[in-house]
Amino acid sequence: MTKTSKKNTVIEVLAEKIVFPGNVLCRCTDGIALFCEGLLPGETAEVFVTRDKKTFREGKLKNILSKSSLRKEPECPSFGKCGGCSFQHTDYKTQLKFKTECVRELLNFTETEIPDIIESPRQWHYRNKMEFSFFDDNGKLDMGLHEKGSFYKYIGIPPCFIAHQDIVKTAAIVKEFCIKTELRPYNNKSHEGFFRHLVLRKGINTGDLSVNLVTNKTETIKDEFWSELTEELKNYASSVYWTHNSKFSDAVNSEISSLLYGSPNITESLTVYGNTLKFSIAPFSFFQTNTKAAEILYDTVIKCLDPKKEDCVLDMYCGTGSIGICLAPHVKHVTGVEQIEDSIKSARQNAVLNAINNVSFSASTAENWIKQNTQKFDAVIIDPPRMGLTQPVIEHILTLAPEKVVYVSCNPSTLARDLKIIYAAGGYFAKKIIPVDMFPQTYHIETVVLLSKT
Ligand code: SAH
Repeated sequence: MTKTSKKNTVIEVLAEKIVFPGNVLCRCTDGIALFCEGLLPGETAEVFVTRDKKTFREGKLKNILSKSSLRKEPECPSFGKCGGCSFQHTDYKTQLKFKTECVRELLNFTETEIPDIIESPRQWHYRNKMEFSFFDDNGKLDMGLHEKGSFYKYIGIPPCFIAHQDIVKTAAIVKEFCIKTELRPYNNKSHEGFFRHLVLRKGINTGDLSVNLVTNKTETIKDEFWSELTEELKNYASSVYWTHNSKFSDAVNSEISSLLYGSPNITESLTVYGNTLKFSIAPFSFFQTNTKAAEILYDTVIKCLDPKKEDCVLDMYCGTGSIGICLAPHVKHVTGVEQIEDSIKSARQNAVLNAINNVSFSASTAENWIKQNTQKFDAVIIDPPRMGLTQPVIEHILTLAPEKVVYVSCNPSTLARDLKIIYAAGGYFAKKIIPVDMFPQTYHIETVVLLSKT
């Protein structure tokens, strides 16, 4: 019997469980699974069906019929519309429980006992970096974040409950200045307008703050604007940049950045495994966005590694070298590999800043680097982006056969996929699996895995 399509109709569902990265597996009355966002297990709801396939459906939440006792009022009035943090409808303890269960389920095949996820020291206002976009709100200039799933629509800030308070405060000041110029916000469709992005970075442990105002090149702006803005920002900021970007892409791009005030980089400090180290962060280079949780993450990585003075360690996907630099005082040598040249430049500067000379860095993709390097290592750290490892990199690590491998993952699904390949090859098992919460109020999960041969 062929079933009639439920597409574009509203149906009733029962939410069963949250699946990474934030979809909810629901059951329709006819037994078919439906995926939709925004529900909690046990809730019943009316859902508008957007896709109806043979074995599953997708839908948009319309109306919750029975609420879970775990549901709470989100802090942010833009919850549900803003693409920022979509896990505010339950308390922090429940968010943590979901994240732990998710890692346990995905990595169940390892048979390794997985402890509860380590909490983030801050649950709100933890982000040290934000990129806001300027936009037109019915003829008025406003600034904020992209609407969920939209390229052209935005949500104004304040409030923002995950950005550090100084970032929110400074953004509001800059916005007022921009409004006074009467110049227009940039429009992604027409490519007209002047103000594009505001990138703010805060050294949570040092107090530094950098302001980077990104504008289109086409319009002129009075010199007084910059002098008055800089004068005002001197009270809050350690550096002020003006960046030109006339490219069509919405990505925050740097064509020409002029430093209008202060030092070129902000400094952040991290206390990890008994040492406090300084990191100089350039306007466009990568740094973990939750400073306090990064200290815990790196501490966990180094504890898992259990470093010895005679160890030579490979830090693959090293970014600006933070993990390797924190580890260097405890080992003989660290080699960092990273594809972005600017990040490697920062990594080298950061090694000098901390008087660390037992590290070396290569600007290369992991895939190219392994073709030219067959050096043995006592331990390997891998911290790949969301898509996880590629087959040649996995094979290289298996051939190197270091005593220990620490896999730092920001995506438990690709982590599970990669570990299955490693398990199938034989030789390694996950001695420790430690989830760490770096992103409260969101569904993101970070996991540290120690792979060992014994
Ligand atoms: N370990 C670092 C950064 C991890 S983010 C830290 O904790 O700060 C992952 C990094 O991998 C990014 O810096 C990204 O530029 C880099 N990357 C992505 N694909 C890569 C590849 N194929 N080869 C080398 N580096 C890559």
